Order: sequence, then structure tokens, then C-alpha cells
Amino acid sequence: MRILVTGGAGFIGSHLVDRLMENEKNEVIVADNYFTGSKDNLKKWIGHPRFELIRHDVTEPLLIEVDQIYHLACPASPIFYKYNPVKTIKTNVIGTLNMLGLAKRVGARILLTSTSEVYGDPLVHPQPESYWGNVNPIGSCYDEGKRVAETLMFDYHRQHGIEIRIARIFNTYGPRMNIDDGRVSKVQELKLEVSVMSLTWYISYNLCIFELLLPECDYDFYEMSQVDGLIRLMEGPNTGPINLGNPGEFTMIELAETVKELINPDVEIKMVENTPDDPRQRKPDITKAKELLGWEPKVKLRDGLPLMEENFRLRLGVDKKK
Ligand code: NAD
Ligand code: UDP
Repeated sequence: MRILVTGGAGFIGSHLVDRLMENEKNEVIVADNYFTGSKDNLKKWIGHPRFELIRHDVTEPLLIEVDQIYHLACPASPIFYKYNPVKTIKTNVIGTLNMLGLAKRVGARILLTSTSEVYGDPLVHPQPESYWGNVNPIGSCYDEGKRVAETLMFDYHRQHGIEIRIARIFNTYGPRMNIDDGRVSKVQELKLEVSVMSLTWYISYNLCIFELLLPECDYDFYEMSQVDGLIRLMEGPNTGPINLGNPGEFTMIELAETVKELINPDVEIKMVENTPDDPRQRKPDITKAKELLGWEPKVKLRDGLPLMEENFRLRLGVDKKK
């Protein structure tokens, strides 16, 4: 099986590549423009005979032969997707169109990583996949970009019979997340400065686990990770959209206090204004993921945060204070 992963040098993409490369029958091709991703995330595969890395922007056509396409290319953090909003829309619209054109030409199955942002500031709680969302059309290049990407996927499916899969991923944290991600916390020399957006703002978090940090017990976590959900969706018969998220809720204050307790007792919790058009509350209904994919997240925040901390320390070269 020859598999293309667009955005494979990013946070979720590189974990997915690790997992796909475990299967000796797979050849993996990553196409990435390194906007938010890095070759570092893939360094263990560079030079491997079953692996290929292409510097490529998905807004340009791509002519290769593959059997499956995991289409992840798109910055996920607001800091980056708002940096050049027009480019974000092009990535979602033209990029997805190109990957669908490729899927159509070669007869490949294609999976899109969509987002919980398609629900906008939801009026229904928790959000099932059948909820159409409450998005401000002039608010966010990312939300509307992903909505169009989903529409394109279904139109190629209905019009050209392309085999599609859509995952709606909820906010995910974990090792290899961009150090400057900026969602919720800002890491400066591991002096975690937690910005608490607003007391009423709830969010759910998943964990994407990096198996190298947990060599002896990775299986339990690994099977339940985000990446596992994506592979189950790709390999199964359901088109989706399917929510992949953690229905456990906590307030930003609770998150800040957990970080303070587990990572740095000296951290200062600052209250700042929420950014415009940010949802106040978000929680996935994962009935479909459970029933159709046999998937649910298992890693608790208290277990996940220390793993992320360890990976961040490694990358920043900062030791834990004794
Ligand atoms: P990321 O920013 O770490 O990875 C995105 C990757 O796409 C990067 O390697 C980046 O360089 C690449 N990229 C961006 N624009 C590109 C372009 N035009 N051409 C080629 N490559 C391009 O983000 P992530 O967290 O790994 O997210 C992966 C996917 O999952 C994205 O589609 C994102 O929208 C989706 N998603 C992520 C989350 C989350 O919380 N992380 C939540 C919902 C959806
Ligand atoms: N495309 C691509 N790789 C391919 C085939 C198509 O990048 O292997 C691009 C192509 O350049 C076009 C888009 O996908 O911009 C949509 O292709 P499709 O064939 O669906 O539409 P058309 O080219 O007929 O407009």
C-alpha cells in the first residue's frame, strides 16, 4: 500500500507516519511545505527505503501514484492559521481540491482531517455530527475553509464516486505539538504561562501519544490515540464525518490549576480576554466513534500533561527543577 500523508511533518501527521511505517507493507510519502511542521518530527524515517519526504505546497497540483491519501495539510493553531488567512483558505479549498483531483485520477481513498471548529460557537451541547454548527461566515478562515473542504469531499464522492473519509478532530495536545502553539498555554523556557481565556470557556482535550516516551506501556495509550481513530476510520466502511475527541470537560481555570499542580507550582495564572469568535463551550458526542470505530480516548489530562511536558523539555533542552 502506497500512502500519501499531506501535512505529515506536523504534530498529528508525524505520529500518523510513525504508525503507518510500523506496517512493513506500507510505503509512506509525506508532502509538506514546513509552514508549521518540521523535518525533525520525521528524522527517524529520513533515508528509510519505504519513506519519502517531498517539500510540496498542496495548493499546487501533485502528480504521484498512491493508494490512500491522509489529507492533513493545514495549520491547526489560530496563531498560524490567522497569520495569513487567505493562504489558510487556499490550503483548505485549493489544497483539498488538488488532493481530490489526485484521488480521482489514481482511484485512491482519501481521508480529510476536519475539525470541531465546523460547529463554530455551538448552540447544541454536546455536538453530534448531525449538528450543522453556528459559524460566523466572516469570522474565521479556518472554520469556513474546513467547511468548504468537507463540502468538496462529499461533492467528489457524490459526483465522481471517490471513496472519502472525514474525521472531525477536537483540540488535541501532546508530545511534538508546536512549541509556540499558543492555544491555552504559552511555553517560554518551560515557565508555562497559562492564559485563562474566560471562566465559562470549556474545552475538551485529547492526547496523541508519542510511543517512544512510553516504550513499555505504549500499547494501551497508543490504541486509544487520535492517530488510531484516523486509521480505524480510513480502514473501515464509514465515510463520516465522525467526531474524534474527548468528551471529558474542564474549565480553563481547572486546566490552569492542573498545570500549576503537575508542572510548575510557581506558574502565574493570568486572566485575559477571550479572542473574538472563539467558542465558549465545546464537547464532542462520540457515540458514532464508539459504535462505528470502536474508538474512545482513554488518556486522562493528569496522565497526558506530564508526557507532553517531558517531550517539550527534551526539545527545549530544559531540565526539570529538582
Ligand atoms: P500542524 O500545524 O502541526 O500540522 C500541519 C502540517 O501541515 C504542518 O506540517 C504544515 O507544515 C503543513 N502544511 C500547512 N499548510 C500546508 C500547505 N499549504 N501545503 C503543504 N503542507 C502544509 O497541525 P496538526 O495539529 O498536526 O493538525 C493536523 C490536521 O488536523 C490539520 O488538518 C488540522 O486542521 C487538523 N486538526 C487538528 C486539531 C488539533 O487540535 N491539533 C484539531 C482539529 C483538527
Ligand atoms: N490534480 C492534482 N493531481 C492529480 C490530478 C489532479 O493535483 O493527479 C489537481 C488538478 O490540477 C486540479 C484539481 O486536482 O486542479 C482537480 O482535479 P479534477 O480532475 O477533479 O478537476 P479538473 O482538473 O478537471 O478541473
